[in-house]
Amino acid sequence: MTNILDRGTFETLDHNDELAPFREKFYLPEGLIYMDGNSLGAMPRAAVERSADVVKREWGEDLITSWNKNGWFHLSKKLGARLAPLMGAEEDEVMVCDATGINLFKLLSVALQLRPEHKVILMEGSNFPTDNYMAQGLVQQLGQGHEVRFIEQDNLIENITDEVAVVCLTHVHYKTGRMHDMAAITEKAHAVGALALWDLCHSAGAVPVDLNQCEADFAVGCGYKYLNGGPGAPAFLYMAKRHHGKAQQPLSGWWSHAAPFAFEQDYRPSENIWQMMTGTQPILSLSTLECGIEIMEQADMEKVREKSVRLGDLFIELMEQECSDYGFKLASPKNGTQRGSQVSFHHPEGYAIIQALIAEGVVGDFRAPDIMRFGLTPLYLGYADIWDAVARLSKIMAGKVWQKAEYQNRSAVT
Ligand SMILES: *Cc1c(COP(=O)(O)O)cnc(C)c1O
Repeated sequence: MTNILDRGTFETLDHNDELAPFREKFYLPEGLIYMDGNSLGAMPRAAVERSADVVKREWGEDLITSWNKNGWFHLSKKLGARLAPLMGAEEDEVMVCDATGINLFKLLSVALQLRPEHKVILMEGSNFPTDNYMAQGLVQQLGQGHEVRFIEQDNLIENITDEVAVVCLTHVHYKTGRMHDMAAITEKAHAVGALALWDLCHSAGAVPVDLNQCEADFAVGCGYKYLNGGPGAPAFLYMAKRHHGKAQQPLSGWWSHAAPFAFEQDYRPSENIWQMMTGTQPILSLSTLECGIEIMEQADMEKVREKSVRLGDLFIELMEQECSDYGFKLASPKNGTQRGSQVSFHHPEGYAIIQALIAEGVVGDFRAPDIMRFGLTPLYLGYADIWDAVARLSKIMAGKVWQKAEYQNRSAVT
């Protein structure tokens, strides 16, 4: 028989939590339990001062000289170098720039050029759609007989055949939080002569990643989720050094030129990671992302992972204890080692329930058709928060509060 959980259990865990001091580095509204850091990370307090400084001093006073004086031109490269250790990459293999989808497009194009005899891009149809749409857009644009082939996790390994040019997968699934075995899949891809591109949107800053250890070829990921970079923060891309200078990415803007300030008539690609750039980057957004990265650098990723798994396990256990009568069905792996940093449940009334929860100060989100997602961000979410969130949910379910008309209408963003 399992022990009955009570709030005291959670309070004790908070009391002994080595990561608890990180909570102060973030601003969150009083009383709010924020479980959506997998979609938009919380605001680092430092971002307020940093963005004001970039606007007032760097832009206002220093104007154009900031490209040199305040390091604007090299900011993408500098942030890439700072992010690299977080994902097991070398400093000169990562750039912070553009959006995830755009970076994916550039890298997929490189991958297809490196494997001209292979015509298949292998992906999961259930992946976050932008990755799949981007791949389909690229294939359409190339017109060289490539195919985007959708295979789900259960049949994945045996479908990595010698037709495949690149296996392009999201490491942690956006809906279920299920995590792929990056090392095993990359190894299988290489065994058939294919390359591996990993989307780390739900991994960077959430779970330990070692791209070089796995011999991954390419990766992309988001700056505004677990890296807490702010709304629309630039994404990152990784390209293993062995692929630098071997192919030309298609969005060949001046920042990817070997000598951008030579203003030559013809394109001549840079030989290093700069080749993956396109054009002028959003400096304000890069600046707030730097505040998020700075916090991540101070956190021990193994401890972050340990707490994240524990938060998830307790959340699942508590849902069984308090909410078993209300029709929730776990959508995430129960085994924490197979899960990223989120827990999801199926419920036919998921949308309305999430709206009612938000009104009660617990923020999660909803993904069609019936998934309620809860992000677990160990740097600003405590154990007692989990207790309180489930208590509020249980109250909403017992009182059927979600049935109110105001919780039924869907907004543009769910
Ligand atoms: C969040 C997310 C994206 C976001 O793409 P944008 O280009 O930033 O809009 C892409 N892929 C996955 C898997 C995501 O979870």
